[in-house]
Amino acid sequence: MALRVGVLALQGGFEAHMETLRRLGAEPREVRTPADMPGLDGLVIPGGESTTIVMGIEAAGLEPALRAHHEAGRPILGTCAGLIVCDAEHLGFLDATARRNAFGRQLQSFEVDLEVEGIGDEPLRAVFIRAPWVERHGSEVEVLASYDGHPVAIREGSVLACAFHPELTDDPRFHAIFMAMTTAARERAGEEARR
Ligand code: GLN
Repeated sequence: MALRVGVLALQGGFEAHMETLRRLGAEPREVRTPADMPGLDGLVIPGGESTTIVMGIEAAGLEPALRAHHEAGRPILGTCAGLIVCDAEHLGFLDATARRNAFGRQLQSFEVDLEVEGIGDEPLRAVFIRAPWVERHGSEVEVLASYDGHPVAIREGSVLACAFHPELTDDPRFHAIFMAMTTAARERAGEEARR
């Protein structure tokens, strides 16, 4: 059965994520209210404006459902603003603190080829748009990629996050890491249910 992956669709770039997920064989679903959350195997929190997304989560009453998803070990992918939303100062799903708009005015938007742990030797074209970087992180956090000495892709348990926009290129390898995490989590949950 296809993986059911929710994409938080309160604000920002959720459409492109839906497209990439579909390409990888998942069944994406837009998430706007708590009623959209049950039955999801994974969840994407897209880029956009972190303040607006955080306020939207509050207004929609989505926080308890997001916490339940996380506590059940179901994977979450946070990209750009989504990384900020997951950090220690917001939902607290990551023992890491993001610095907003970290690359400054000169570097509002740029693209680089990044070496990313777990995607093979070929570098990933990464699109940064008023991106954050990871300012501080705990020892449980795995750094998958850095740029200019700052972590820009990290993973902690079931949470994968990056400062760039993997949904804006046609290279699906970053989403594929998330799909593999989601497949593994669903298999684990299935085994536990059968026990
Ligand atoms: N600058 C935005 C923020 O701080 C993030 C930008 C993005 O998601 N592309 O929320």
